[in-house]
Amino acid sequence: MASLEDLPVTTLKGVGAALAGTLAKLGIHSLQDLLFHLPHRYEDRTRVIPMGSLRLGDTGVAEGIVMRAELVMGRRRSLQVTLKDDTGFLVMRFFHFSAAQKNQLTEGARVRCYGEVRPGRAGFEFYHPEYQVNPPPMPPAEEATLTPVYPLTEGIQQPRVRGLCRQALEYLRRYPIRDWLPESLLADYQLPDITAAVALVHAPPADAPVHLLMEGRHPAQQRLVMEELLAHQLSLLLVRQQIQQRQALPLLPTGDLVERFLDQLPFSLTPAQGRVVSDVRQDLSQPLPMLRLVQGDVGSGKTVVAAMAALQAVAAGAQVALMAPTEILAEQHFRNFVQWLEPLGLEVVWLSGKVKGKARIEALGRLATGQVSLVIGTHALFQGDVEFDRLGLVIVDEQHRFGVHQRLALRDKGAEGRMAPHQLIMTATPIPRTLAMSAYADLDTSVIDELPPGRKPIETIVIPEARRDEVIERVRKACAQGRQAYWVCTLIEESEALQCQAAEVTAENLRERLPELGVGLVHGRLKGAEKAGVMEQFKNGDLDLLVATTVIEVGVDVPNASLIIIENPERLGLAQLHQLRGRVGRGEQASFCVLMYQAPLSHNGRARLQALRDSQDGFVIAEKDLEIRGPGEVLGTRQTGMMQFRLADFERDRGWIETVKDIAPGIMRHPRSVDALVRRWLGERVRYGDV
Ligand code: ADP
Ligand code: MG
Repeated sequence: MASLEDLPVTTLKGVGAALAGTLAKLGIHSLQDLLFHLPHRYEDRTRVIPMGSLRLGDTGVAEGIVMRAELVMGRRRSLQVTLKDDTGFLVMRFFHFSAAQKNQLTEGARVRCYGEVRPGRAGFEFYHPEYQVNPPPMPPAEEATLTPVYPLTEGIQQPRVRGLCRQALEYLRRYPIRDWLPESLLADYQLPDITAAVALVHAPPADAPVHLLMEGRHPAQQRLVMEELLAHQLSLLLVRQQIQQRQALPLLPTGDLVERFLDQLPFSLTPAQGRVVSDVRQDLSQPLPMLRLVQGDVGSGKTVVAAMAALQAVAAGAQVALMAPTEILAEQHFRNFVQWLEPLGLEVVWLSGKVKGKARIEALGRLATGQVSLVIGTHALFQGDVEFDRLGLVIVDEQHRFGVHQRLALRDKGAEGRMAPHQLIMTATPIPRTLAMSAYADLDTSVIDELPPGRKPIETIVIPEARRDEVIERVRKACAQGRQAYWVCTLIEESEALQCQAAEVTAENLRERLPELGVGLVHGRLKGAEKAGVMEQFKNGDLDLLVATTVIEVGVDVPNASLIIIENPERLGLAQLHQLRGRVGRGEQASFCVLMYQAPLSHNGRARLQALRDSQDGFVIAEKDLEIRGPGEVLGTRQTGMMQFRLADFERDRGWIETVKDIAPGIMRHPRSVDALVRRWLGERVRYGDV
């Protein structure tokens, strides 16, 4: 039987090549694609709201008689039309209007309009509402239905999409959509079948509960939401499957490298580190590529875990690549590893985009021939000209900047191009459990859920910029006692150049105010060597105060630094602030974080800074961040593509995530269902590598 998937949109009346091209921009090719182009909200035009009961922010239909229509000059010229009904007044305001409009909207005309209530000079106003003069009677309440609102692209308007969807619904009667979900599941949750659900959301019947539809909680919508979340989950499991279709070198623990490393460490592992190390040891021993995410709050000691994984791999004869997202962080890892591993007789190679010419050729040669086992660097590690002899393990620090497609690409970097390397991914951004379940479904996770002993809590102080002088005195005092401090400049401007400039000005100013201190400056525009030099001086204690942009956000580790000042914290996300704060509290002494904000703080801004002051638990903060900013921001921009849902809303629908996680493995056993569901919901957005 033919299906909606086989019917192109050009089947519909009025759709020629041009419109088909526009629809293609929305990923719509077939009638099925069109029907899965779902309304993301509804407008309630079913009833007229009495003007007297309109409230700010309401959206709806009002109807009345024009009392006055006048041109007002104000800051911008506008046409101001005052309407009246039995209960009150409403102004329609037009900044652009034609002579015809002006002639139509004259005193005494009856007007019905649809808009959003805003505060205006003359009371409540609708700006540029849709309106009708002398409107036909409203349909009786029993027949009135909600108006669907669709996502659009340039070149196509709401009424057009509505019309096309109505036409497509005619075809839906003849060609029902194949339901891939088990009937028992639908019965358990009392959800409609897919065809009924799709029909309902495009054209909700008059008797459907309006509030449920407006909130996206109608069973038909929830059925689609669940299927969408499931499709995303399946797409990630597919990636995992595709990576694990390759074999990996089993890296069995051998020799005494790992023990010798542990012996020379000045501390012993925390039980949590021990657990994660043993998870990783197990995974590495398998002939199946490891795909493991290690989550651990700032300062929980992930680097040691990474080093132990690297040593196991090297001892088993494999090469290891450790990649970090920024030059500073990569350099720091490089220095740590050199310090740890040189005494064990192991050499480490450094490779970033800035390593050029002879040095680069030499480094590449030694990697390709297998003369060195360990390389540390930035994304440059996986550029085209970098070849390995026996790459067995890739360690990625700071996962939230590293997407699923990149994980897939790593698959092909393994030994002889046939074996996939093991992947160990470390993130310091604690990820709320539900979000992790859906965004990292392709990874196994281990959590380092305790900090090394002896850490003192960091006291967080929220203070307005007006008290800058006191803050400077605090820095003076801390440094006089032999401590070190960070001063972090953030800026309104997005531009990195301006940020760096601001940091320069601040550093200059602090040098003047604190002449007795050694003040250093790092920002993204310094050359690698310069940056490394300053960091080294700070680490050695030659500098007391380090002025920096948010480049020091991740990983920088100087235990003697016990004070951090963050300017304009209200502009940063909670997770990022938590990261920054984690630069202190790494040593024995009590630590402080001063959040120096620009007054006045918004209500929301105050709540966020308070949340940070009140908690030091990354998971609690991440939950708050998720609440306030949504999953896209929490996961970082690279990942957001995966989290752009048509219908699902992470906050509203997180209740489904557990269910989806439970049923996904069963569905994975039916490749046709998986394929159909992923195609239906993710369409062209996902392209898998050939298997
Ligand atoms: P993160 O998890 O933020 O990457 P690091 O690996 O940089 O944390 O570790 C933070 C600091 O804690 C480092 O100075 C490290 O040497 C130290 N550290 C790690 N593990 C332990 C431990 N078990 N006991 C004491 N200190 C530790
Ligand atoms: Mg780290």
